[in-house]
Amino acid sequence: MEKTFDYVVVGAGSSGCVMANRLSEDGEKSVLLLEAGGKDKNMFIHMPSGYSQIVPTKNDSNYGFETEPESTTNNRHLYWPRGKGWGGSSSINAMIYIRGHAYDYDLWRQQGNEGWSYEDVLPYFKKAENFHGDGDEEFHGYDGPLHVKKSNRQDDLLLDKFIEAGQQAGFPYTRDFNGAQQEGFSRYEHTINDTPRGPRRWSSARAYLHPVLNRKNLSNETNVTVDKLIFDGKKAKGIEYVNEKGVRTKCFVNDEVILSAGALSSPQILMRSGIGDSNEITKHGIGMVHELKGVGKNLQDHYGVTCSFYATKPVTLHRSASWLKTQLAGVKYLLLGSGDAAYPPCSGGAFFKSSPDKDLPDTQLHYVSFQSPDQHFREGVTLEHGFSSIAYICRPQSRGYLTLKSADAEDEPLLYPNYLSEEEDVIDLRNAFRETRRIFMQPAFDEYRGEPAKPGPELNVDDDAELDNWLRDTGESLYHPVSTCKMGSDEMSVVDDKLKVHGIDGLRVVDASIMPTLIAGNTNAPAIMIAEKAADLIRQAS
Ligand SMILES: Cc1cc2nc3c(=O)[nH]c(=O)nc-3n(C[C@H](O)[C@H](O)[C@H](O)COP(=O)(O)OP(=O)(O)OC[C@H]3O[C@@H](n4cnc5c(N)ncnc54)[C@H](O)[C@@H]3O)c2cc1C
Repeated sequence: MEKTFDYVVVGAGSSGCVMANRLSEDGEKSVLLLEAGGKDKNMFIHMPSGYSQIVPTKNDSNYGFETEPESTTNNRHLYWPRGKGWGGSSSINAMIYIRGHAYDYDLWRQQGNEGWSYEDVLPYFKKAENFHGDGDEEFHGYDGPLHVKKSNRQDDLLLDKFIEAGQQAGFPYTRDFNGAQQEGFSRYEHTINDTPRGPRRWSSARAYLHPVLNRKNLSNETNVTVDKLIFDGKKAKGIEYVNEKGVRTKCFVNDEVILSAGALSSPQILMRSGIGDSNEITKHGIGMVHELKGVGKNLQDHYGVTCSFYATKPVTLHRSASWLKTQLAGVKYLLLGSGDAAYPPCSGGAFFKSSPDKDLPDTQLHYVSFQSPDQHFREGVTLEHGFSSIAYICRPQSRGYLTLKSADAEDEPLLYPNYLSEEEDVIDLRNAFRETRRIFMQPAFDEYRGEPAKPGPELNVDDDAELDNWLRDTGESLYHPVSTCKMGSDEMSVVDDKLKVHGIDGLRVVDASIMPTLIAGNTNAPAIMIAEKAADLIRQAS
């Protein structure tokens, strides 16, 4: 089968839904959006607490990848959930809305990427946003498609104790992590919208795709996997994709192919198409089209460790932890749109310096009023009350890579994040962990703090070697892999600052993979901003 569109967008995730919307906005250009997963029909996608149902296991909405064992994390396989289906990872994420520090974007600009300083990208964050709540007004947008709501949770006593404890430990309070001052302790803003039937996740699909499905010039297909690009010399002419029944289709483009398949899949599609490092490609019998050493390299992610305590009083969210109470919370949400199921998993956090010699806040903390055997809820939540923080270093120096297992588009990638391979990351995470514990030792928690749960009392946290081994033994991904098709002009960059793939015409990558360096914060808002900006770049050029 063959067809032709002006643009094909590969992947309906955080960035892809924006691209489909904006490129079809003028009503003239024909756009085809292709997605490997299905539509976002699972009710747990839309229920804010549904996170704990979708993230723990591989399922129709979650690829549930695993990394390869590496000595830097004591040869463990680490779990990497990724969203599959409309909304991509924005349909399964924790809904925390953070843009990153102004410094992060100014660094991209200093590296030579014109148009990507904080001043340049701020208008795109604002264009996307429809902000509700108490924040620094001049930094927010109020009529974009992406609803963002500041947490106003009133029934989580220890959330406020956490913010108080941060200040007792000598850190500032900040009104708005996305405003004038990132550093400090506060409640999070979330991609959530209050609807007449209660709060709903506001994924990129909900914001950008659902409202425009009736556009005549926008087509979409689900449950189709894009295999590879079609070339005429070094010009991308289209793509080949396969549906669930194995039927292969060729789709040609008049204008451009846009890869928005995410930081794990966009580089794989390039490699399967013969673009990348020939050492990684030709061994699978794939012919080379263009040598680009950086495809799949430069992989960066946030690696976090959990610090938790048992609580001495039943004041935490474990009140809804038993099977029966979880069901009751779900029913209450469905009937009344309220209760524990109406809230996202994490309502507050912090950015601070892991040690006083740092110029910028380099640590992010996610605070939650519960403790669980594992960060991904794979082993459920215990009934014993507790509270936790996950700490990670915002701008890690360690770099990993991913590569193909085979030329088969259905094969999962081989993932080598190489966490903690740089000594600086180990030292910073060690300091960040000790600061986290110090925060929990503040008077605000005195009434509630029981025995340490994680790490338990047997670990001597004052011993560097013992603690470092524990960091390697227990840390997990915080789900922000980026930079595998990095933007730039050096030998390892894959796209230029217009997001065009170096050396190839008619092809751009538009998703989290283009970030030259990881930003200080969660990566959904930046992935959406990147697509808003890319759509403008494309329209300006056409
Ligand atoms: C569990 C979890 C929690 C997170 N929590 C937060 C949070 O609270 N806040 C935050 O800001 N960020 C969070 N993130 C990260 C954030 O959601 C991602 O960085 C962001 O969604 C990435 O956007 P993207 O467009 O690059 O990729 P994605 O949103 O992952 O989209 C890629 C899409 O491409 C599709 N695709 C892939 N390969 C193919 C192919 N061959 N053919 C067709 N389609 C394909 C995928 O199915 C997917 O739908 C979290 C992520 C996860 C997984």
